[in-house]
Amino acid sequence: MVTRSEVTTETGPDAQAIPLQERESFQFRCHQGVSCYLTCCHKLELRLYPYDIICLKNKLSCSSTEFLERYTRLGAGVHPYFPAVMLNMVVSEEAPCPFLRESGCSVYTDRPSACRTYPLERGVEKEGVGAKLKSHYSVVHHSYCKGHDEENSYTVRQWKREQRLDSFNLMNDLWAEVDAFFAGDPWQGEGHAGPRQQLAFMVCYNLDAFRAYCIENKLTSRYRMDRDQRRRIERDDAELLKFGFNWLLHVLGNKRTLTPR
Ligand code: SF4
Ligand code: SF4
Repeated sequence: MVTRSEVTTETGPDAQAIPLQERESFQFRCHQGVSCYLTCCHKLELRLYPYDIICLKNKLSCSSTEFLERYTRLGAGVHPYFPAVMLNMVVSEEAPCPFLRESGCSVYTDRPSACRTYPLERGVEKEGVGAKLKSHYSVVHHSYCKGHDEENSYTVRQWKREQRLDSFNLMNDLWAEVDAFFAGDPWQGEGHAGPRQQLAFMVCYNLDAFRAYCIENKLTSRYRMDRDQRRRIERDDAELLKFGFNWLLHVLGNKRTLTPR
């Protein structure tokens, strides 16, 4: 089983990860001519982050509820207090990713963070409460990946730009803050199936259901924000997710991420 990861580091047993600074370079190119082309899109343990799900369900023109039901399963999170959402591989001997076609990745422009970051892995850490998240990168060498034998080289910074990683990293960092809060077991003894965790799961992973919940409960009108911000939240999934993260930190952790009216 191959593991692609981001935010957390799970390189897998057959891989070697070498830490890299932003200005350091690595040799790599993935293209249709490599002998391993698309072999890496099989038998994956691929964790999806909240922003990945938004991008994929919009690319596939389906709701987040449909996306979760059709393509995912629950998996172990990075701590015991909140589950991860894993992409299901197709059930067959080769177990390809459900988005893999003969011509390549059918969701390429909206592929998940881990796929667009590869062959790099990104980890984040925080030095103490209130400190800013710090990210670090490693380049991962899997024995099957021949992209490292190609002559092209990139710095980490160039790779981030080329793969358009900034918006994914930004959203994943916000998610990392929320998940770090969940790691403190804020469920007040309710456990996994309790209403608080169900609510948090909806906000983080089932954004269309959260949008309906916001409308039904007039949620945004309960907090101070200007009209433009309210409009952005109403129209833009990423803005709604940011609001949802702040709302969870506020209602579950009593944090001052939102100001009640
Ligand atoms: S989403 Fe695309 S790049 Fe990622 S594993 Fe699936 S087919 Fe491969
Ligand atoms: S070069 Fe690496 S990333 Fe590209 S197809 Fe081959 S195994 Fe996958």
